[in-house]
Amino acid sequence: MLRPDTIRQAPKALLHDHLDGGLRPATVIDLATEFGYDGLPTTDVDDLAAWFRRGADRKSLELYLETFAHTVGVLQERDAIIRVAAECAEDLAADGVVYAEVRYAPELSTERGLTLDEVTEANLEGFRIGMERAAAAGHQIVMKMLVTAMRQAARSVEVAECAVRWRDSGVVGFDVAGPEKGYPPTRYLDAFELIRRENFHITIHAGESFGLPSIWEALQFAGAERLGHGVRIVDDITVQDDGSVRLGRLAAFVRDRRVPLEMCPTSNVHTGAAPSIAEHPIDLLRRLRFRVTVNTDNRLMSGVSMSSEFAALDEAFRIGLGEMEWLTINAMKSAFAPFDERLRVINEIVKPGYARLRAAESRVVAGLVAEAGR
Ligand SMILES: [Zn+2]
Repeated sequence: MLRPDTIRQAPKALLHDHLDGGLRPATVIDLATEFGYDGLPTTDVDDLAAWFRRGADRKSLELYLETFAHTVGVLQERDAIIRVAAECAEDLAADGVVYAEVRYAPELSTERGLTLDEVTEANLEGFRIGMERAAAAGHQIVMKMLVTAMRQAARSVEVAECAVRWRDSGVVGFDVAGPEKGYPPTRYLDAFELIRRENFHITIHAGESFGLPSIWEALQFAGAERLGHGVRIVDDITVQDDGSVRLGRLAAFVRDRRVPLEMCPTSNVHTGAAPSIAEHPIDLLRRLRFRVTVNTDNRLMSGVSMSSEFAALDEAFRIGLGEMEWLTINAMKSAFAPFDERLRVINEIVKPGYARLRAAESRVVAGLVAEAGR
């Protein structure tokens, strides 16, 4: 089994993480005091962390999303957004993440008058500060932003325009999130068409709480390059009694086209999209060599990190370093950063990092063998 230290040191790439789902509990309390938000259920750090976790683990996407009222509640000022984005970069870097695309819906931070552009600028400024602080602490991380439009709101075109305006400053793509039921991807076609006309990137939350039609619409009508979650693609896969596997047309398309699946195992258990990590479709999908990636989704609500997700997968499926490297390279190949930047991370950081860890592991094994022989 992989040691916790090895997992933490291993270079990791993250494609699906929400800024408003990853605040430090103590920061939520600080910001509530500083900016006069009085809606928190408690001002005790441990109680608040536990409250978020309880609120998330209710087997329903709609209930899971309710907990965000408080994180969004404290993200209404420029300085608050900068602080949270900077800490996000620092926390990910300290966990061994070397490349991250973190998403946020700027429309959520406009309650006190900030504009979509001001929110996006603050988010990017926070990432810049966080990257600098991480580098000073000895951790290199590349932070990119995905701009999200919320399904319930009717601002997707405005948000898409905002994403495109900031493409040269660190925004790498556009996403649609929120409850899936009743909000199919085809409702936002204007926004997706705008993004495609601009030769920009699209990922869509699809196939999380809702089935194959949302995945089909995301890919074939909206032009999604990646699927946020996409777990329900297993509904189009049949495993026969003799162990042979048959893919339906949609599942075959997803695998043949190497459509990246931004899988978030623990979050899926919390929202009820999967019964447990051990029974999570990620195992079948990785064995069938779909383009699987591992992600955190909401580190605060689900109480996870990239390292804890990999540890959980290793415990359930014994993935080992080899598979961890494969999952990480899958993520880098699927990232929205420019090709040369992705290659640099793969060749200069990811591959050498895993080679070093494998060498260290074999030294440990050789040492144990020598010890046993004495
Ligand atoms: Zn998500």
